[in-house]
Amino acid sequence: MITQKCQLCGSKNLSLIIDLGYHPLADTFLKELDEEEVFYPLRVLLCQKCGYATLQHVVSAPVRYQKNDYSYTSSNSPVAISHFKELAGQVVQMAEISKKDLVVDIGSNAGTLLKSFREQAHCNIIGVEPAFNIAQLAKKGNIPTINDFFNQTSVDKIIKKHGKAKAIICTNVFNHINDLNEFMKNINKLLAKDGFFVFETPYFLDLVKNVSFDTIYLEHVSYFAVTPFEKFFKKFGFQIHHLERNDYMSDTMRVYLSRKAGNQILVKRYMQKEKSAKIFIPKTYAIFMKKIVGLKLDLLQQIQIAKAKGERIIGIGAATKGNTLLNYCKIDNTLIDFITDSSPLKIGKFTPGSHIPIKSDNDITSDITHAVILPWNIAEFLKKKLKHLKLKFIIPHIEK
Ligand SMILES: [Zn+2]
Repeated sequence: MITQKCQLCGSKNLSLIIDLGYHPLADTFLKELDEEEVFYPLRVLLCQKCGYATLQHVVSAPVRYQKNDYSYTSSNSPVAISHFKELAGQVVQMAEISKKDLVVDIGSNAGTLLKSFREQAHCNIIGVEPAFNIAQLAKKGNIPTINDFFNQTSVDKIIKKHGKAKAIICTNVFNHINDLNEFMKNINKLLAKDGFFVFETPYFLDLVKNVSFDTIYLEHVSYFAVTPFEKFFKKFGFQIHHLERNDYMSDTMRVYLSRKAGNQILVKRYMQKEKSAKIFIPKTYAIFMKKIVGLKLDLLQQIQIAKAKGERIIGIGAATKGNTLLNYCKIDNTLIDFITDSSPLKIGKFTPGSHIPIKSDNDITSDITHAVILPWNIAEFLKKKLKHLKLKFIIPHIEK
């Protein structure tokens, strides 16, 4: 589907601001190298009326999540586990979740976040997870899960069985939603009168400031900024109750919506920051594109110099964002021997587009000299973990 008009305000006045070439789905790791791959243009448009940034080419949700084994599981990373614990604790306090309340997690994955809610508030929990293999994993782990998209059917099912939710959470899901109007209608329906809708999503201002172009991929339909969304949420009777930054998954914004009066001072402060950073002006993105071309050339040069000396290079962390970087820079299995990851769902597969095999850390032999850390946001953690291997680390990110 090609975006013809802004889904927040309806304007057709959209400018092309970022063009990253053609990419396959970033989250679809291949089981076999001869699997068919479809490449789509990865481009971002900016609404000139309200400032909403969105993909030009939107791949349908069933193609993205149900045709393939979606491989991300939240349960395998210690960074994720401690993050979810903290998030659950804050929501329990802010929304005053007690034993009788229901908490719903949209895109609940293997259920790590919900487990934290159950441990901290002893409340009812239910997950909504469209990927069949992941939903099965959650159910095995004793997390009640509906294997479906968050839609009218799944919402009606939850209300009928458990009543309305005191808190609805989604982490790194909001930006994946194709139809935000439909999504917010369903949130409105499921959320109790005094409930909170809490989501964490990458913050567009940070993406622009930090040139985190690798957080742009086909699964990320929307790029969240306060200015266009504050207006949009009001259409559904919601106000921004609280906003907060955290560093997990690189430059994320935590947003609390409620039907109570919002925190106008905080909202205005963010809107002002967005205005001063000129993120709603297309000219800003000419500089942005120049910077990522620079990063690409620099990274390729570092790899080629090492290669010319006969050194061996691997990648660390088969993160989704790594796939945007690899495919944009055209780094494939001729340059990087393999990528290590701790997820058993990824080991043995190949990265989409670049076709690099994924192995475990145990496969790092002593003849390997260089390692490109793909999830650069957790580079310090990974460097510490692999310190004993004496690798030269390459971090593909533009320093501030
Ligand atoms: Zn708009």
